[in-house]
Amino acid sequence: MATICLIGNPNCGKSTLFNKVTDMVAHVGNWAGVTVEEKYGDWNGNQTLDLPGIYSLSPYSPEEKLSRRFILDSEPDLIIDVIDATNLERSLYLTTQLVELGRPMILALNMQDLLEKEGIKIDLEQLSKMFHTRVVNISASKGTGIEELSRAVNKTLADKKIPSCSLFAPPLEKIITQLIADDFMHVAPKAYPRRWCAIKLLEEDELFLERMPPIPEKLQKSLADSREKLIKVFDDDIDAIIIDQRYHVAEDITKICEFKTEPPQKFKIDTILTNRFLAIPIFIMVMASVFYVSISLIGGLTIPLIDSSITSISAQLHIFLDSVGVIPFLSNMLIDGIISGVSAVLTFVPQLFILFTLLSILEDCGYMSRIAFIMDRAMRDLGLSGKSIIPLVIGTGCTVPAIMSTRTIEHPKMRKLTILVTPFIPCGAKLPIFSLIIGSFFQNAWYLAPMMYFFGILAIAITGIISQLLDRHKESNAFILELPRYQMPTLRNTWVQTMDRTKGFILKAGTTILLASIVIWFLSNYNFTLKEALPTNSMLAFLGRLIAPIFKPIGFGTWQASVALLTGIAAKESIVSTLSVALQGAAITTLFTKAGSFSFILFVLLSSPCIAALSAMATEYKDKKLFIGAIAYQVGLAYLASFISYRILLGVF
Ligand code: GDP
Repeated sequence: MATICLIGNPNCGKSTLFNKVTDMVAHVGNWAGVTVEEKYGDWNGNQTLDLPGIYSLSPYSPEEKLSRRFILDSEPDLIIDVIDATNLERSLYLTTQLVELGRPMILALNMQDLLEKEGIKIDLEQLSKMFHTRVVNISASKGTGIEELSRAVNKTLADKKIPSCSLFAPPLEKIITQLIADDFMHVAPKAYPRRWCAIKLLEEDELFLERMPPIPEKLQKSLADSREKLIKVFDDDIDAIIIDQRYHVAEDITKICEFKTEPPQKFKIDTILTNRFLAIPIFIMVMASVFYVSISLIGGLTIPLIDSSITSISAQLHIFLDSVGVIPFLSNMLIDGIISGVSAVLTFVPQLFILFTLLSILEDCGYMSRIAFIMDRAMRDLGLSGKSIIPLVIGTGCTVPAIMSTRTIEHPKMRKLTILVTPFIPCGAKLPIFSLIIGSFFQNAWYLAPMMYFFGILAIAITGIISQLLDRHKESNAFILELPRYQMPTLRNTWVQTMDRTKGFILKAGTTILLASIVIWFLSNYNFTLKEALPTNSMLAFLGRLIAPIFKPIGFGTWQASVALLTGIAAKESIVSTLSVALQGAAITTLFTKAGSFSFILFVLLSSPCIAALSAMATEYKDKKLFIGAIAYQVGLAYLASFISYRILLGVF
């Protein structure tokens, strides 16, 4: 049984091809690299592997490391380089590196169906000559060319045709040739092609050097000389020289093999959506409309409806439980603890469902990737990577998967910073709190909910600026950002994603929040002698009073507010249910002043996330000090922001 692996840029259609040929259902997503794992399947009796999408084989990101390690260590019998034919030059950059790995290879030029539309023609024969490989036209989604690819696979497995490609500029080539001839090369693992080893030696590639014995002094000296020479000739550092040379090779081959039949002159929507000046205002408008539709429009319709039905159900249930003689402790627990707590959360399900649907459509059609592209420039200035936008957008749903998705950011510094700031983006669970407060204190201020996102972003910017000021060893990290083409969101994808997120929300309401509601109900109705007590004399009130003074300077020093914050550590949704249980029917407007209520939601927005997200942070940081520092920073910033806003708003209201 032979091993075949599919490799290519993110979004080149690898997963689609993999699913087509192996009858296995792998997740087809539009986000670059959210999962870092390989998938296996069977293709005509050959073990076939879908490696994560990558742009290069540099040893930085987990995906790149994984793909490279797999190809070098497992020595697959065949590599299928899946190429997005509408993006030939960019794809060939990776091809120039795959060629060096010295394994039999086929180029599968995917997206044939789009070529004609985009006015591109590719000379297969030329391309095949340039790389010494078989080249096949396919369309993974339409299923064309698959048989021909299958035949090419069989032929290549039989003749083990090894690829090669045109060479770098002479000064670099000369040094590579010398290195290939060096005695030291004999100690490299057998599976490592000599040319590849030579280039890795020049690059001082850490992963490679780890696997080699110490470099002899003589070779070290000659390597240093060679590097110096190259740096002089090309006037750049070694990594940049080699990257640049690869681009030249990819560019040259593209020039020879690709013809544009008609220059695409049609109007491109991206000229507006990614326009320097319009992009961000448009993004803000899009997000504002999304929130207007889901929170104000749908929420405004459904919340009163659900509220009134739950009130009447509770009343009926009360009468029924009394009539069958259930003891008051149990019936109170059921109605005031469980039902009122969980229902306070569930009333938000319809609007969250709509919100998640709209966000999923924006992701699926490719708009969110444009936002990543637009934000890239700004992100760099804040010490974040362009890829940081992925966790930040996912964070609008739930902070837990968002923090996990930071794994695709290759630079440790950018990654740590992204983990720190991701919780500043309000997750789905914080929206009910904003809705409750904004709805009760600031009627018709629909713009306040989108503004919470703005404040979250502001907190990220401030944190980024601070980190940049503190950072003495700044490094640049160039990466090519994916701009997938616009596509109709599929009903299935949207449905799956929306249901996933909504289910997550409901499940949490059904478990953590249910438990929290019961505990809170108990603590708020009983005193320390376990006798029934008024809420003001309860255990919860005691705890709340204990910590309330801390929040006095920022405008909400009541025990109810403090207690809500405490239970919010378990799950942010609990804040709403706690307030509703603790208020015992009183209006929320009796609890806060206008300025205090805003300070409260600002504190909820910025202070540390719920326990699930905290544990995700701890897992990703793998460092207690960093983790505790991050929490201290988040709570500190929240306190400061609330303090400032409270003092300002006191003057306004
Ligand atoms: P991966 O990231 O490389 O695994 O790419 P996917 O398989 O997820 O595909 C990315 C997008 O390209 C998906 O929306 C696919 O439906 C689409 N796609 C894949 N192959 C083709 C093709 O041959 N033609 C067209 N038009 N779209 C394709």
